Amino acid sequence: MEASRASPAQPSRVIADDRSRLVWACPDPLWRINESGFVPAREHEVESILSIANGYVGVRASLTEGSLLSDPATYLANVYVPSSTGVPVLARAPQWLPLSGAVDGRPFTLQGSQRHEHRRFLDMRKGMLWRDWVHVDESGRRTRIWGCRLASLADRHVMAQVLFCVSENYSGVLSLETGIGGAPGYSTVFWRYVHPAGAFSTASADLGEGRQVVAAGRSVVWLPDGTALEPDIEATNHGIYERWHLPVEVGRRYRMDRLLFIYATPDAPEPVARARAVAAAWNPRSTDAMLEKHSQAWEARWELADVQVEGDEAAQRALRFAAFHMSGSASAEAPQAAVGPRGLTGGGYGGHVFWDTEIYVMPFLVYTQPEAARAVLAYRYHTLPAARDDARAAGLAGASYAWESADTGRETTPKWVLRPDGTPARVYCGDEEIHITADVAYAVWQFWEATQDVDYLAREGAEILVETARYWASRGRVEADGKFHLRTVMGPDEYHPTIDDNAYTNYLAALNLRRGAEALAELARLRPASAEELRARLGVTPDEPEAWRRLAGRMEPGRRSPEGVIEQFFGFWSLAETLPHGDSALIMQSESLRSYQSLKQADVLMLLALCPGDFSPDVQWANFQYYEPRTRHGSSLSPGIHALVAARLGKLAEAERYFKQTAAIDLSMQGNAMIGVHLAAMGSLWMTAVFGFAGVRFDGDAVRVTPHLPADWGRLAFRLRYRGRVLSFDVTHARADVRVESGSPLAIEVAEPPRVGGPARIDAPSISPPGGP
Ligand code: BGC
Repeated sequence: MEASRASPAQPSRVIADDRSRLVWACPDPLWRINESGFVPAREHEVESILSIANGYVGVRASLTEGSLLSDPATYLANVYVPSSTGVPVLARAPQWLPLSGAVDGRPFTLQGSQRHEHRRFLDMRKGMLWRDWVHVDESGRRTRIWGCRLASLADRHVMAQVLFCVSENYSGVLSLETGIGGAPGYSTVFWRYVHPAGAFSTASADLGEGRQVVAAGRSVVWLPDGTALEPDIEATNHGIYERWHLPVEVGRRYRMDRLLFIYATPDAPEPVARARAVAAAWNPRSTDAMLEKHSQAWEARWELADVQVEGDEAAQRALRFAAFHMSGSASAEAPQAAVGPRGLTGGGYGGHVFWDTEIYVMPFLVYTQPEAARAVLAYRYHTLPAARDDARAAGLAGASYAWESADTGRETTPKWVLRPDGTPARVYCGDEEIHITADVAYAVWQFWEATQDVDYLAREGAEILVETARYWASRGRVEADGKFHLRTVMGPDEYHPTIDDNAYTNYLAALNLRRGAEALAELARLRPASAEELRARLGVTPDEPEAWRRLAGRMEPGRRSPEGVIEQFFGFWSLAETLPHGDSALIMQSESLRSYQSLKQADVLMLLALCPGDFSPDVQWANFQYYEPRTRHGSSLSPGIHALVAARLGKLAEAERYFKQTAAIDLSMQGNAMIGVHLAAMGSLWMTAVFGFAGVRFDGDAVRVTPHLPADWGRLAFRLRYRGRVLSFDVTHARADVRVESGSPLAIEVAEPPRVGGPARIDAPSISPPGGP
């Protein structure tokens, strides 16, 4: 390209303010997550935090021109590919984000350039990532570049980037380059790049077993007079590149629209033909209308997903951030696509599915977008055959879910990992964290309770509850003491493997046993033919449900102190009280950790968080006091549960402290989010606000609120869906207003927060000694 001379002049403010420039962005700062400047070392976490997703595709917020520390990725929900270690990982689409510019051959880059006015922000209201900067090269040529990126919520298969470029003080030649291609970050998939005659390019890959994925890209540059300019194309084996060379003058504005259409099996049969047809038919002039539909879809989504907080801007943003990423992780139109712990924002844990989905993210989905909740739960029905195989392989009945799984549902937890010192450490989670099976059953029941969706119960839910109940019945044994014991397990607290009678696991397994029986009874009442068909298909004998109930009644409940403190597992109270001083990081890795009463996360508080109605406030507070000082919060799943339990009890100082700690996990920008944001922590924030500070609790066709807001929160307002209704909650320190916005009436009770007292702290000596009842 021939360079023309730059003629720097005084900067001219071509476009003056946000309103005209960032024309589609929501101006309210409480809907934005801002990132100003550019700190290369922080790029990975910024990419996760500002990523956008629509439940089907997730796009990290990588710089389009790249940087040494960029990790651009576009993830496809529930599409897994083998990794170099043999374990399946969440698939990445080929690179479509690269979009670079240069003036007279000098590229726009943040590295080494003067970084003027560089900012990015996530517009959560409209589901768009914005970037806005002024690039100044060595000759003083100023180019203002701005634009947005989105994954359409109105049509899950469509992604878009829009870029604007204006010279502020020179004339020259502007080059723009984009394309599709390059290594998407792993090498186990072979992408085939094709540029059929026409205006789009495709990248497709066969993922084995008949699975295919295809991305079709299409771009257009708009000249200042509104005419469209097609690019020069270079098609190679590793990518297809599109280039434009444009004469620029001060104030002349160029715009580029870049569209990507992604289709994959099984969601889209014949994905290649589909993507090509859609890309070929795309009218370049319809981009603005597409953006509008996308914004409207987010507006509609927020009607139910938003939680409004007045008086605490940080809390307001954190709750929106949580709702934004949880909403982006799931979609009613992506059935069977379960949610990994980092959603579609990063490759952490290979995108595998854990209990995070059912226990932390599901409540938000169940009560704000039950259609998406049902689609996510479908993953567990779809993987029920693998869960049955798992139980059978262990010589047990029914179905047991993998602790960590990908699309097939098979166990993907590693057996060994390397410690920082290079020595191998055994990972027991896959063998012993069997609470996952009861967690799935808990979520199925929660969905059923909240929706009364008989169709779901008949088609999927009851079968899961029956098969998981059968698993528990065969996994434990009634021993000489007449109690049903579950031995050799690990609770959520992963510092203590290979234990017996874990309080959390036993309690949830008992619930699962009862609910297996209840599900059959409910189905027999509501859809007798379906119940009969299910019983016959699964060979449920007439006395099986009663046997499950009996076993649940005999479940070893664990020992309790006089104050009601529940022993985390048998023998926990015999462990040494505190960790010795020393290198705690190493202690954390070592086997010796299991000898101490130091917890990664508190199993008993988790139990109280899930079943608050089963334990009196005094018992809950006693357990909080006992376990809180022993918990090291070695997991992002931990502090939010402390916040929730404390908030329900009206213990606001503790609740606020843990709420803030949870919100900071991603938003403090301490590097935690490099491999994706923490969806479970976000779920616990949402639960703390709704079930904790507002104190919402449903009971059949009744709802009770026991509000107790943090002092700074002037108002807390949100909507929930419950059994076909839309309910609105509007709570201040002085009043609680609960309304049925649509649907049939239900009983509403506003109650006083519980008054719990007791000593400030419970120490070991007042706990009944081991060997008690
Ligand atoms: C936690 C698990 C969690 C997993 C994925 C682990 O560190 O201990 O409870 O499921 O991370 O978030």
